[in-house]
Amino acid sequence: MNIILFGPPGAGKGTQAQLIVKKHNYFQLSTGDLLRKETKKKSELGLKIESLISKGNFVSDEIVNQLLRETISNLKYRDRIIFDGYPRTIDQVINLDELLNEFNQKAELVISLSVPREIIEKRIIGRVTCEKCNMTLNEFFNSREIELHPCGNQHFIKRKDDNLTTVMSRYDIYKKTTQPVLDYLSKNLRFYEIDGTQKIDEITAKIDGILNV
Ligand SMILES: [Zn+2]
Repeated sequence: MNIILFGPPGAGKGTQAQLIVKKHNYFQLSTGDLLRKETKKKSELGLKIESLISKGNFVSDEIVNQLLRETISNLKYRDRIIFDGYPRTIDQVINLDELLNEFNQKAELVISLSVPREIIEKRIIGRVTCEKCNMTLNEFFNSREIELHPCGNQHFIKRKDDNLTTVMSRYDIYKKTTQPVLDYLSKNLRFYEIDGTQKIDEITAKIDGILNV
């Protein structure tokens, strides 16, 4: 069964995808990875991709499709693909559906990790690191661990984080562009929304439950 995994940046989507890959013998397909791998191969297509990216151009849907087709047609991955970060638009949904159809497959299941904006923000701005042992905790979510930290709680410092604006703007773009996709998929496929604010193993247990049905 092919799976589409959704989640905003910072929701722990990558971690969960990797766990599904390991536990359930899946292939994680992210278009970014496909493009990077092809570039590394120095194939004709890879060189074309490299040149497009280095000039700041977008890689066309046609090229992405060619790479998707290679993976989807590979019998090794048949019905074992987890789509991570694709499709992101309705056009891509339709395109993926056609591609899968061509190889007698379909995406049957959508898992969406939801995390409210303010939690993503707190995860970033609350991050503190112990100067002595380098342990990173979060002042919003780990106040007790900080209080009881073996080095004492006075060595925690906040590193200046230039990431915040980038992550939040990616979150906003994600929300805006993927909502129509989620609305569409939730009507047409088996759709599960999981609270992404839970602990990693709690989320994993929920996903396991869904996959073992
Ligand atoms: Zn410490």
